[in-house]
Amino acid sequence: MVVRVDISYLTSDLRYIIVNNAKVKSIPNYVHGNGNNNNNNDIITFIDENSIQKIKQIIQHIFTENHIQGYIIAENTEEENEIAILKQGDMEQFGIYICTHCGMSFESEIQRTVHQRIHYFT
Ligand SMILES: [Zn+2]
Repeated sequence: MVVRVDISYLTSDLRYIIVNNAKVKSIPNYVHGNGNNNNNNDIITFIDENSIQKIKQIIQHIFTENHIQGYIIAENTEEENEIAILKQGDMEQFGIYICTHCGMSFESEIQRTVHQRIHYFT
């Protein structure tokens, strides 16, 4: 099982940082060149990492190291073994609702609201 990471929503600067991280393994359709042909590398995978949780941690670490804020790493609710990196605020557009307390993702606002109650009552 290979975990894919969708970076198509990132700016080119952010893609560059992630794609050039040592742990990133392969970029299908990646075109080496003058940097202008890199827009198709929307899906990346990681070396020796097949755990969604571990990969989330790696990406989070890259973000922390580079002082990048305002992005959320979410599991794709429609594609198994796929993670999407989304800009905070853009997510609801993609049908992903994130708990602001713990970062869990939900497919609907109702599910999130029900879940968020556990934070208020504990
Ligand atoms: Zn939560």
